[in-house]
Parts: sequence; C-alpha cells; structure tokens
Amino acid sequence: MTTTATAWFLDTPAQPLVRRELALDEPAADQALVEVIACGLCHTDLGFADGSVKPRHALPLVLGHEVVGTVRAAGAAHAALVGRSVIVPAVLPCGRCEFCRSGRANACPSQQMPGNDIHGGFATHLLVPAAPLVPVEAAAGTPVEELAVVADAVSTAYQAVRRAALGPGDAALVVGAGGVGGFVVQIARALGAHVVACDVGAERLATAQGHGAEVALDAGTLPAAEVRKAAHAQARGWGVPSLRWRIFECSGTPAGQQLAFGLLSRGATLVQVGFTPAAVEVRLSNLMAFDATVHGTWGCPPDAYPEVLRLIAAGRVRLGPYVDRAPLSRVNALLEDMAHHRLTRRMLLDPRS
Ligand SMILES: [Zn+2]
Ligand SMILES: [Zn+2]
Repeated sequence: MTTTATAWFLDTPAQPLVRRELALDEPAADQALVEVIACGLCHTDLGFADGSVKPRHALPLVLGHEVVGTVRAAGAAHAALVGRSVIVPAVLPCGRCEFCRSGRANACPSQQMPGNDIHGGFATHLLVPAAPLVPVEAAAGTPVEELAVVADAVSTAYQAVRRAALGPGDAALVVGAGGVGGFVVQIARALGAHVVACDVGAERLATAQGHGAEVALDAGTLPAAEVRKAAHAQARGWGVPSLRWRIFECSGTPAGQQLAFGLLSRGATLVQVGFTPAAVEVRLSNLMAFDATVHGTWGCPPDAYPEVLRLIAAGRVRLGPYVDRAPLSRVNALLEDMAHHRLTRRMLLDPRS
C-alpha cells in the first residue's frame, strides 16, 4: 500500500519551496515509514534552498534532515519499531562498511541524509533506512517535538565534543554560540569542562551564559586579537594548560573560522563544526609551530544518540531555550527570516499545520 504524503519540494534553487503530494511506497525490508512530528530548520536547508550548496540528490527534492516522528510501518525485521517515536539521525550510515565497523559511521561513504540524498522531513511522512532509527522513550519528560533538534544540532555538537576528546577540567573555547554551538557549550559544561563562548550577538551570548558558558566574549565589538587575548587569559586563569584547550568553530562564517584558527596555541586542538562555502586564508604552518591538531567533524553515529538522550533526560542539556515552533506551511517565510538573520532559535516545523 502506498502512502500519500504532503511535502515541500525544492524544485528550483533560489525559488520558494513548493507544496505537493508525494506517493511513498510500502517500506522495503530495510526501511521504515515515519510520520513526522516535527522537523528542525537548519542552515544547511537554507544553503540548499538559496542555491549556494547543491544537494546530492537531483531536484526536485524534499528538504529537512532534523526529524522526530512515529514509525507507521517497517520491514519485517524492524516490526518492533512500529508505533514508536523515533529520531531519524541526519546521517544514516550503511552499518556494514569499514568506516561503520571502525567507529567512524558518521563518515560512512554510503550514508544517506534525508533532505540531501533522499527526500526529507519537510513533509507529513518520509521513508528512511530503519536500522539507524533511535527510539526516544529514554528522554521522557522532554516534549517529543523538541527532540527533533537531536537529529542534527545536538548530536553533531556531542560528536564534535567526542572528536575533541574533551574531558573534565579542559577548556572549551566555542566560536559561534547559537545553534550547534549553543549545544557544544552545554555539553562541554555537562562533561565538566570550563567554557568560553565567543559570538557576535548579545542575545546569543546571554543565552550561552545562562546555559554553561562561564565567560562570553562579543566578537562583534572586540577585535579578534582582543578576543584571543581574553580567551587565552581566561583559560590560563583557570589553570588549564593550552594542551587541554579545545576550540570549536561552530559559526560557519569566514570571520569565525579565522578567529577559531587564531585561538590555537601550543598543543591545542581545533574542531571544525560549522560550514561556509567561502574559503578563508590561514597560515597552516601554525599547526607545525604549535604541534596543534585540527579535526573535521560531520554528523554523529547513531550509537552515540542514547548518551545524548541521557544528558537531556538528566536535565544537563536543555533544548527548550533554544527552540521555537512554527507550522511547516510557513517554511518559505522562515527561510527568508533565516537568510536575514532574524531567527534566534531553532525552528521546529509542524507538518500538521
Ligand atoms: Zn543541519
Ligand atoms: Zn558504512
């Protein structure tokens, strides 16, 4: 039996998304049909919609990769999922290749990402691989629609922190404290690190300070050299040697990337989390001189999600202050708002309105 979903398609870059019906086949043996409860709106969606980034799937494509929903049907081996609420991870690895077997499933070359490789969550339903789905009963107590942001923003932040091997007593210097960066701040603090947040907005900095950042530096008013001096002085003041400084670039802006690279010091580690199609000029030789480390990070392997949900259930990572709700039917206006930096919170889109 096919299911008729209502979905918002990207037909043409830089044109509004178009709403129409999408016929979804019955799930294959390794698939599940998920009825969307909420789908987060991410900067990556804006990049696809405005044409600055090309999705891997040919257009038309249904965008949206931050889904929480209810499994309505699944292949026989996954029948136990039917009726359960699940997070659809933004990165759905194959589970079989060498990347997947080596603990690097988030870099799986055969991965599928909703709204990029397959039709996504700006829809009433979507069809996805069943094996990576994450049941969410573990985070009972949090409104289920808020868990949509775990599919990308929160889990990506968690994986970035893991990639950095951040530990208690380390110093996390977070550039870009909204979106994913806001969750890096919270998770780093939850794991016992000291946290400095750098951003350009007073409101985002205030939110970061209310949720884990001990120090907030406004890179909009301070020149980069002053931000660097203040962040380093703070970390040293905590008695943390630069070997244990973990810098997270989450702004996805050229200025943020340059600032983050400039925060490197002897033995320090930088994790690149944000994305911009722009190129920046940095002196790579600093890595040599400092014996420093730079990691990239992409998404999060599904097996890390239960720990993320435990942090949320324990109240150590809060979602509420970082999210807002809107009907999916407003998606084009919200993309416009996002393009003009008018959104301060992650929007959770409800496909039923
Ligand atoms: Zn995203
Ligand atoms: Zn794989």
